[in-house]
Amino acid sequence: MEKQIVTRATLKRAVRGLGLSGLPLCIHSSLRSFGWVDGGPDAIVDALLAEGCTVMVPSFSGAFSIPPPIHMRPPQNGCDYDLIDHTGNASVSSYTPDSPEVDHYLGAVAAAVVAWPGRSRGNNPISSFAAVGPLADQLIAGQTAVDVFAPLQALAAAGGAVVLMGVGLDNMTLLHLAEFRAGRTPFRRWARDANGAPVMAAVGGCSRGFPRLDAVLAPTRRERWVGRSRWQVFDAASVLEVAAEAIRTDPGITRCDDAECERCRDAVRGGPRLRAAGL
Ligand SMILES: [Zn+2]
Repeated sequence: MEKQIVTRATLKRAVRGLGLSGLPLCIHSSLRSFGWVDGGPDAIVDALLAEGCTVMVPSFSGAFSIPPPIHMRPPQNGCDYDLIDHTGNASVSSYTPDSPEVDHYLGAVAAAVVAWPGRSRGNNPISSFAAVGPLADQLIAGQTAVDVFAPLQALAAAGGAVVLMGVGLDNMTLLHLAEFRAGRTPFRRWARDANGAPVMAAVGGCSRGFPRLDAVLAPTRRERWVGRSRWQVFDAASVLEVAAEAIRTDPGITRCDDAECERCRDAVRGGPRLRAAGL
């Protein structure tokens, strides 16, 4: 296969060609999908910033999860409490927005944003978002343990877009906000607050079925190849509108292929019943 080198100039041209200059963007990316990027993940962030974009990424941090305390177990919460590993909880520390940890599977660009000097990071211990650029603080400020999707709400309100760089719809966290808009309560998981006390944090559910929304989202999508990476660009507000409507109409559309998936089963039922558990 022909060797393609993606440079800052290539990236900037793509951003301009897609009409994304100056916009806030939520990026989901596979660095490997590009072939070779001159300058690595930092060059991607750098090129977007040079075009006046704000770059937001999911910066989830499963390392801060603890097992569920007995008084914080809502029913229909996408997990089997009997099967959870209750050991190893004592060594888990408290998350703060200054924490450097980020889940490896989110990729090198997400890690680059989390390591970026002056980046803003949300205050959800397990499912934070991080951002750099002119609107970073504005996007991130509203995130809390319970209001997990505030950065995505802010992205849509600011006219922003989601860019999938060589990854599929199963990476698109905005679709979890669409589930919320369709009436689902986000699942709760557990971490420690700043004082070390257990706290519940809202998180997204199973996203493996999201590619089934492909046809629904197609009218809102623009595409471009950047090196060997297929970029799919979606206007955030349009996605929320059409995806929430599709989920309301056919709740099963988000289901993944695993018939035993507890998260998909409970999401379709509406998510955790917090009030039933006095939460
Ligand atoms: Zn599932």
